Amino acid sequence: MSYENIAKMIDKVDMERMKSRLFYMSKDPLPYRKVNYTIPGNTKNSLEEADDFIAQNLETAGYTVEREECKAQAFRRDTSKPLKSQFSPPKPEDPWYSIYNLYAKKTGNKYPDEIIVFISHKDSQSWIDSPGAYDNAVGTVANMEIAEVLAGYPSQRSMWFIFCNEEHTPWTSVTAAKKSKERGDNIIAVINIDSLGGKSQEDTDAGKKTNVTLFTEPEGEWLVDIVTEANDKFAIGLDHRKAKRETPGDDDGSYIKEGYLSAIVNVGSSPYADPNYHAPSDKPHVVDIENVYMSTRLTLAAGLMVDMR
Ligand SMILES: [Zn+2]
Repeated sequence: MSYENIAKMIDKVDMERMKSRLFYMSKDPLPYRKVNYTIPGNTKNSLEEADDFIAQNLETAGYTVEREECKAQAFRRDTSKPLKSQFSPPKPEDPWYSIYNLYAKKTGNKYPDEIIVFISHKDSQSWIDSPGAYDNAVGTVANMEIAEVLAGYPSQRSMWFIFCNEEHTPWTSVTAAKKSKERGDNIIAVINIDSLGGKSQEDTDAGKKTNVTLFTEPEGEWLVDIVTEANDKFAIGLDHRKAKRETPGDDDGSYIKEGYLSAIVNVGSSPYADPNYHAPSDKPHVVDIENVYMSTRLTLAAGLMVDMR
C-alpha cells in the first residue's frame, strides 16, 4: 500500500452516512444508549437496540459480529456534584445487566498475528438522560465508518473494531483487554476513538477543527507521531496536537493496564472542553460533523500507516 492508496481510502469516508448514523443513535429512534432506558413499547433496552444497529451495519458491510458478554450496573446520580461528574457508584442492591462488547475482525494477509485495535465506547451516560452525541456516538460512527471503508481492503495485519461500554460500571473494555492478555493476543496498537471534535464553545465559535492524540507510556509515542504525520501527509487540515497522560485513562487505559502500552486516544480536546459534556444538551445537532469527519479520516489514515510499516 502506497501513500496514494491511503489517500484514496480516506476519500471513501462518507460524512453524510456518519451524520445519519449519529442522529439514529443519539436522537431518533434512539434518544439514549443505556441499559436502564427502554423506549416505551419496545422489548430491548436502548443499549441493546444500539448494539443491533451497529451489528447490522457491520454485517451488511461484510463482517461477522461477535458479542462478548459482560456484567455491569448503571451508575447512580449524585446531583451535589458538578454536572460533568455526577456519576456515582451503584449500590449493591442495584440490578446487574448483561451488556456486550461487539467485535468485527478482519485477518491480515501478511502478519495475521499482529493486531491493530480500533475501539470506541458506544453507550451513553447511565446516570443521566444525555443523548451522548459527542460522548460517544461520534466515536462509534467513526469506528463503524473505518470498519466499513476497510471491509474489502487487504490489510497486512489483523484489524479489530471493538465497540465497548464506558458509561456503565465496570467498564467493559477492561474485560476486552484482560481476555486479550489471557489469550496472549499480539496487539501492536490500540487506537481509542472518543468524543472526536468535542471542544470549547470558544473554539467552536472560531471555526476550529481540533484533534488531540493522547499517549500514556513512552512506548506509545511512536503511534502518536504517526497520527501527527498522517495529519500533515494527507492534508487532513486538523488543528492537531499531541499530549501525554499522567496515568492510564479511558478505554485505551484498560489496555495499558494489561501491558499493551502502544495505546492512544483521539479526542477533540484535552482537558475535555465541550460545554455539554455529560449533560442532557450533548445532542447531535450541536456536533461539528465536519470536525468528526476530518478526525475519522485522520484515524483511518494513521491506522493504514501502522499497517503499512
Ligand atoms: Zn463519558
